[in-house]
Amino acid sequence: MRKSLLIADGRPMDNPQDLDIIATQWLIEQYPVIVSIHFMYRFNALMKFMLNNNQVLNNRIKDYWWRIEFQNRGSPHVHMVVWVEGHASFDTEEGLQQLNKVCSCELPPETSELHDLIKKNQLHKHTHTCYKNSSESPTCRFGFPRKECAETRLVSHSSDEFIRNGGRICILKRGSEDGWVNNYNPTLIKIWNANMDIQPCGTNETIAFYIAKYVSKSDPTQLDGSVARAIREIQREETDISHKLFKVCMRILKERQVSACECAYRLCHLNFRDSSRKCTFLNTRKPEQRYRVLKFDSNGTATGYCSNIIERYEKRPTEHPNYDFDNMCLLEFAMLFESHYEKSNQEPEECVDIYDP
Ligand SMILES: [Zn+2]
Repeated sequence: MRKSLLIADGRPMDNPQDLDIIATQWLIEQYPVIVSIHFMYRFNALMKFMLNNNQVLNNRIKDYWWRIEFQNRGSPHVHMVVWVEGHASFDTEEGLQQLNKVCSCELPPETSELHDLIKKNQLHKHTHTCYKNSSESPTCRFGFPRKECAETRLVSHSSDEFIRNGGRICILKRGSEDGWVNNYNPTLIKIWNANMDIQPCGTNETIAFYIAKYVSKSDPTQLDGSVARAIREIQREETDISHKLFKVCMRILKERQVSACECAYRLCHLNFRDSSRKCTFLNTRKPEQRYRVLKFDSNGTATGYCSNIIERYEKRPTEHPNYDFDNMCLLEFAMLFESHYEKSNQEPEECVDIYDP
């Protein structure tokens, strides 16, 4: 990353190792496009590695879902859920042994190649966000320093301990010197070389807790005040409800804070999310109630409608050696096929800015 930032800054011969944290931070702020594209290169390589190496999480990853989020200062990070095939149940000795192999919070001995990596990336340091939910007696909401634990054990998802443990079903084996170490996977930390957190879920309740806590985060609360004020003003206006709702939606969109990196993601069409399972929306309302997408010519005049899945279903072939199209319902059709668009010849091969002196 530092190397690519130096190249972007016109200093390709400088040594990335010489950049201190302030200089690096300055470059990150100057080049959000480089940061975002570089992050996605690294993350795509990590995904490829995880999906092709069954030993990383003990077994094959059969499903995954991930989403990019942006921290307060705007840098991207990923939230991900993966499903591992055939993992021994966590409440068996074998299951716990497997967990210990892939999920650790141990500060390795100084002789280990992992020691420096863990020290650099995995030690928790309190910041103001640690205390954002506490009132009188401030305690770190991530639970650091964490207590010693002789052996990895499970906590019941219906117990108070589960809530106190931040919705984590597992309390990992932790020595007295490991109080500040965040959970990591020994294989992934070596190739990722950046901060990570990993937690076993095991039950539907834990997955639900994880998704509610980390994946569906709302926008920063500082915005709520001004949006709430705007909504109160709109409520008092004497227009009909649909106009009011439209104005509220526009206001919320307008008030949203977007970091430079998020702008870079949107402008460069980088992926914000992906999963091994896909969703397709099927509009099954009556034909006269269905939304259609208008098609425009180069003058901006509407010339008709774009085709939709119902039209494509109606035009399906009558005979095919592999598919029984005659007896195929719309739902099956939508599950089996997706639209494929030929790349337009007029589109330039490269969609990056070309430097033209
Ligand atoms: Zn903290």
